[in-house]
Amino acid sequence: MGDQIRRTDNGEVMLGCSHTLPLHDAIDQYVDARVPIGGFLTALLENNLVETFGRADSTNESMLREYVEHVYWCVPSTCWGSPEKVQAWLRGEGMAS
Ligand SMILES: [Zn+2]
Repeated sequence: MGDQIRRTDNGEVMLGCSHTLPLHDAIDQYVDARVPIGGFLTALLENNLVETFGRADSTNESMLREYVEHVYWCVPSTCWGSPEKVQAWLRGEGMAS
């Protein structure tokens, strides 16, 4: 998964996500196939810091900085940023990446 090609909202190709996260696959499935995600990732993608910390297990809590970097740099902004955007994405709205 480290060599996946992604495109930004502007259509630029993003290469080489180097983040190695326990829930990386779950995030990929959410982005690529709009698969619903668990409470921790939902809070993360909703940009809800307090809930993200509250729902993280110890492993994920210790990696929150990398999660945030991954979402910021590697996940198309149409897929995350607010509860409304996450719900819209799961309903199939918004541009495909
Ligand atoms: Zn990444």
